[in-house]
Amino acid sequence: MTEKGIDVGLIAKTDRPKGSIAFTNARIITMENDEVLENATIIIKNNKIEAIGASSEISVPANATVLDVNGKTIMPGIVDAHAHIGAFRAGLNTKKHWQLYANLAYGVTTAHDPSANSETVFGLSELVKSGEMVGPRIYSTGFILYGADGDFKAVINNLEDARSAIRRTKAFGATSVKSYNQPRREQRQQVMQAAKELGVNVVPEGGSTFFTNMTMIMDGHTGVEHNIPVAPVYKDIVTLWSNSNSGYTPTLIVNYGGMNGEYFYYERDNVWENEKLLKYTPRHIIDSRSRHRTKVPQEEYKNGHILVSETVTKLSNAGVKTNLGAHGQLQGLGAHWELWMLKAGGMSNMEALKAATINGAEYIGMGDEIGSLKVGKLADLIVLDENPLENIENTNSVRYTIINGRLYDTDTMNEIGNEAKERGKFYWENNKYNQAFPWHEQTQSFSIPGCSCYALKH
Ligand SMILES: [Zn+2]
Ligand SMILES: [Zn+2]
Repeated sequence: MTEKGIDVGLIAKTDRPKGSIAFTNARIITMENDEVLENATIIIKNNKIEAIGASSEISVPANATVLDVNGKTIMPGIVDAHAHIGAFRAGLNTKKHWQLYANLAYGVTTAHDPSANSETVFGLSELVKSGEMVGPRIYSTGFILYGADGDFKAVINNLEDARSAIRRTKAFGATSVKSYNQPRREQRQQVMQAAKELGVNVVPEGGSTFFTNMTMIMDGHTGVEHNIPVAPVYKDIVTLWSNSNSGYTPTLIVNYGGMNGEYFYYERDNVWENEKLLKYTPRHIIDSRSRHRTKVPQEEYKNGHILVSETVTKLSNAGVKTNLGAHGQLQGLGAHWELWMLKAGGMSNMEALKAATINGAEYIGMGDEIGSLKVGKLADLIVLDENPLENIENTNSVRYTIINGRLYDTDTMNEIGNEAKERGKFYWENNKYNQAFPWHEQTQSFSIPGCSCYALKH
C-alpha cells in the first residue's frame, strides 16, 4: 500500500462557451417524467440551460443565436453508460480522437467507459473538459480491478487491499470502479465496503455467471454490466432485483447466451455505405465489421437479444433502472442500435429514451447535472429531424448536437453558433493515401482485455 506520493500540479480552466443560443418552436422531450412540450423554446446561456417552456411564454434574448427548429424534436444528449471509446492506447492520442467525434455526431454527449487504460482515458477526459479536445463528457473506471491473472491484476485479499486499490483509482479521477473476476464473494464485498467508504460507484460484470450476478445484487453493487445469462426470468429474480437499488446495463449489442445484437443490423443494413458514419470512422474499421457479415435465421435473434430484451423490459417494469450501453462496438451508431434493441423487447419508446438519457446519468452519479432538460442543468442536448416517440429509429436523425453549450452541425462536426470553428482534418484525411490503415489503430475497442465479451467475439 503506497501512502506517499508526489503531487504533480497542473491546473487548467474548464471550458465554457460564452453567449446565448435559442431553439424555438420545437417539440421537446425533457425527460422530466413523461413531459413532452409542443411548440416550445429552450434558451442556453454559456454552458447551461437558462429557460425552457412554451414559445409564447419565453422571451428570446436580443443577442442570442436563434435557430427556428419547427417540426424538429429536441431531447437530452444520449448517455452511454458502457462506452468503450478507444482509450486503450498507451497514453498517447490523436488530437482529434475520431471515436469522440463519431459519438457526438450521433448524439452521444456522455460516455462512461468501464474498462480503459487509466492514463489514456483520464487524459482524454481532462482534455475534453478543458476544451483542448472535442468530445462527449468522459467518465471512467480506468483500469479494472481485475481478479484474474494478467498484467493488471488487482490483488485484493482483505479490506486494506481494497481501500488501497480504490484510493488509487479515485485519485486518477474515477468516480466508479469496475470489479471484475474477483473470484471469491468476500473479495467483492471488500471492494464494496471500501467503495462505500470512499464514495465511489462499483460497476461489476459477472462474466456470464448467473449466481455471481445475483450476489452482486445482494451485496449492493451500483449495477450489473452486460446481460445476465438466463432468460426468461421469473418472480424470484424480478423480486430480488426490483427490491435492490442495483441498475442494469444489458449491452444487448453483445449478448451472453445468444447472437450478439449488432449482427442483426450488419445483416439488415449496408453499414459500409453509411456516408455519415464514414465521415467520422476510418473505412477499414467499418469494412471489417460490416462487409463480411454473419447471416443467421431470424429466430436466432428472437431467441437471442430480443429474448434478453424481453427480460430487461420485465425487470424495468418492476422498477429496475435500465441503462443504455453500446460497448464500443460501433462508435455513435451503435448507441442507436442498442436503444432500438431495448425497444424490441417491449419497452415503450419513452422508457427506451429514458434508458438512453436520465437513467444512465443517474447511474453514473451525474443525474443532477445532465440526463434531462431543466433550468440549471448543463446544456447537453440533441436536435432530431424526426420524432423518436413516433418511431424509435428516428433517434438516428440527429441534426445538431449541443455539448456543454457548444453547438455542432453533425454533417460536418463544425462548431456553429456563437463561437464558430471548423473541424480540422482527421489524420487519415491528411496522408497521401487519404485513408487509415489497421496499424494506425493500435487496439480496437472490441478487443478489450478485462471485458469478457472479448472472449465472446473471438
Ligand atoms: Zn465493457
Ligand atoms: Zn464487455
